[in-house]
Amino acid sequence: MARYTGPVCRLCRVEQKKLMLKGARCKSDKCPMNKKRAAPGKDPKARPGKRSDYGVQLREKQKLKRIYGMQEKQFSLFFERALRMSGVAGENLFILLERRLDNVVYRLRFAASRSQARQLVLHGHVCVNGKKITIPSYLVNPENEISIADGGRNMVIIKDALKEYGKSGVMPWLKLDPDAMKGKFLVSPRRSDITDLSDIKEQMIIELYSK
Ligand code: SF4
Repeated sequence: MARYTGPVCRLCRVEQKKLMLKGARCKSDKCPMNKKRAAPGKDPKARPGKRSDYGVQLREKQKLKRIYGMQEKQFSLFFERALRMSGVAGENLFILLERRLDNVVYRLRFAASRSQARQLVLHGHVCVNGKKITIPSYLVNPENEISIADGGRNMVIIKDALKEYGKSGVMPWLKLDPDAMKGKFLVSPRRSDITDLSDIKEQMIIELYSK
């Protein structure tokens, strides 16, 4: 599937939000978003001051899509699946996104960013219940065990990423044994558990797709 290969920090400028796409750099002084940055474009003054409802909804969807590193087609398939599930569509969408294997690998601190996690999965360094899985969008189920395959145990990027566990731990729906490089997806999170994305207004995304 085609991926965005342009400058990643530009996406944060477009959304005027730190999307945390570059691992350690995002938390360092080197993050360009630490300084006030205008949205990209030749003449920022030429941009309209107020967005239409559609524009606001579109930006909200783009933000979430970019945070999870997805392309439009796959994101809309996730949305359709969320609609078919029982319960609130917005919450279901978050649950599905959080269950993606690349996201779980990132959340378990095996990778510094979701894109790095995606690479680890694609290159066969990740197992689910002891079996190698190379599909980043694979949906992890409650009680599944996620581990680093033997070939990846000495990788510096994984060891470096795991240092973050000592500082911030993992999200409450996960459990990690950093020495064994093994973790568990305990339960599907509730929307309110996903505190780092609490500013995303999923209702706007639902309104956008309902048009
Ligand atoms: Fe966004 Fe991270 Fe780049 Fe900062 S360093 S602009 S948070 S991707």
